[in-house]
Amino acid sequence: MTTFSDQELRAYIAEELAVGRSTLLEHQLATDERLRDRLRALLGESDSASLALRDVWRRGQLSCPSRSTWSDYLTGGLGDGLRQYLQFHLEEVGCRVCAANLADLQQRGGTDADQRSRKFFETSVGRLRDVDV
Ligand SMILES: [Zn+2]
Repeated sequence: MTTFSDQELRAYIAEELAVGRSTLLEHQLATDERLRDRLRALLGESDSASLALRDVWRRGQLSCPSRSTWSDYLTGGLGDGLRQYLQFHLEEVGCRVCAANLADLQQRGGTDADQRSRKFFETSVGRLRDVDV
């Protein structure tokens, strides 16, 4: 377990913490309840802290946003706080799983696979049966 100072946690909230430390912090947040509490307390005193971000933690999706959240990210359906968090997760944390997920969604035009194949099927029944969607 690494020890993080309040100063570091504040820097993290402001997205100014060094990449290496941020990654370490994110990993530890996933298992360290006390660290999460400290971060929550610090978020509480910062009015720039976003509710959406806290919501992400509450749902236990700290490490990886869901695919539908990434879909909303692509279509611009997210509030600022959450969008920033996703950007942070992607660019600073450099999560490969989410980068791959996002690239996949981008290829599908920002919507999820089910939606697209249904649409595709409806408009091309009988003509493109052999095309792999
Ligand atoms: Zn991820």
